Amino acid sequence: MSEILVLAEIENGTLHSTAGELLAAARKLAAELNLDVSAALFGEITEDITGEVVALGADNVYTASHPKLASNVADAHVAALEQICQQASPTAVLTAKTPLGRVVGPRLAYRMGVGVAQDCMNVTGEKISGKITVTRPVYGGNAMAAFTFTDKNPQFIVVRVKAFEALERDDSRVGRIVELDMDIADDQIKVKLIETVKEESEGVKLEDASVIVSGGRGLGGPEPFSQLEELAKMFNGAVGASRAVCDAGWLDHSYQVGLTGKTVSPDLYITVGISGASQHMAGCSSSKSIVAINKDSEANIFKEASFGVVGDWEKVLPSFTATVQELLSS
Ligand SMILES: Cc1cc2nc3c(=O)[nH]c(=O)nc-3n(C[C@H](O)[C@H](O)[C@H](O)COP(=O)(O)OP(=O)(O)OC[C@H]3O[C@@H](n4cnc5c(N)ncnc54)[C@H](O)[C@@H]3O)c2cc1C
Repeated sequence: MSEILVLAEIENGTLHSTAGELLAAARKLAAELNLDVSAALFGEITEDITGEVVALGADNVYTASHPKLASNVADAHVAALEQICQQASPTAVLTAKTPLGRVVGPRLAYRMGVGVAQDCMNVTGEKISGKITVTRPVYGGNAMAAFTFTDKNPQFIVVRVKAFEALERDDSRVGRIVELDMDIADDQIKVKLIETVKEESEGVKLEDASVIVSGGRGLGGPEPFSQLEELAKMFNGAVGASRAVCDAGWLDHSYQVGLTGKTVSPDLYITVGISGASQHMAGCSSSKSIVAINKDSEANIFKEASFGVVGDWEKVLPSFTATVQELLSS
């Protein structure tokens, strides 16, 4: 039986959150095309990690602990994944749109002379033809387009972070673990990792927050973000921003949500002074509820929001925050 292969990344000794998301996407495709789901795990692999990958949906797990795979340098991952592709002949290979996955997938596709689709938000398998179709944003996020692969396998699909929700862990699942001896020659490694500089951040990470309070150009400057911070803290949430804010230098680009920023899918996404441009919404439209505060009743954000307040944020936000505080403490 052929398979859908997922590159399940390991970061700092734990399974990266995108692994569960890719496995969920792969399980969907596998069900539609009647295939197995396999995962490739490279680096510092523990029993807990292989168990987690199986519990999240893998039928087969290929593991390789070659020293060259210890750091997340793409060259070694491309070489290792290529060897798995040669042995397993997967129908499709899914990588996440992470710094590693967004490089490994396309590079290997080019090397193997097959197609690649970047930044995919959905994947569908057509039972009769066996063809895979992906959906991805085009024209700067102003439209979504569906692309169907030709028959040449494997089909490389780079999946946007948070586009899929990981399946619930099922510890009763049993998987086949295949330990591989990788042959990675020195001349296959062109890049040397010299240093990793970690971004210092306080509190919950934007990508992991269940509540996000995002501010836009309508705030008028960087100072009002302290009020957004105050509201976010009440929910143990995080602050986000539109690109206009980051481009203006009011906040660092690590706060940016959108097509060219981070993709988030919190339970609650509160926007203050954000117009709701399609490129911003591309990064937050999978939020469970969107609440908008904007003085322009015609702003696009109101088309996307579940709840909205038309008004000046300077008047609305203080009473909104006070009410939240009251409700949370009652
Ligand atoms: C290729 C490409 C990629 C892009 N990627 C991203 C991306 O990743 N993320 C992103 O955010 N954008 C992105 N953009 C930019 C995007 O098109 C918008 O320009 C941007 O999102 C606008 O930010 P904004 O809503 O903060 O500002 P504006 O569009 O200027 O909107 C400000 C809003 O604030 C409201 N407002 C003003 N004063 C008040 C007040 N006192 N009280 C309440 N409301 C008020 C206004 O009514 C308005 O709706 C991208 C654009 C391109 C072309």
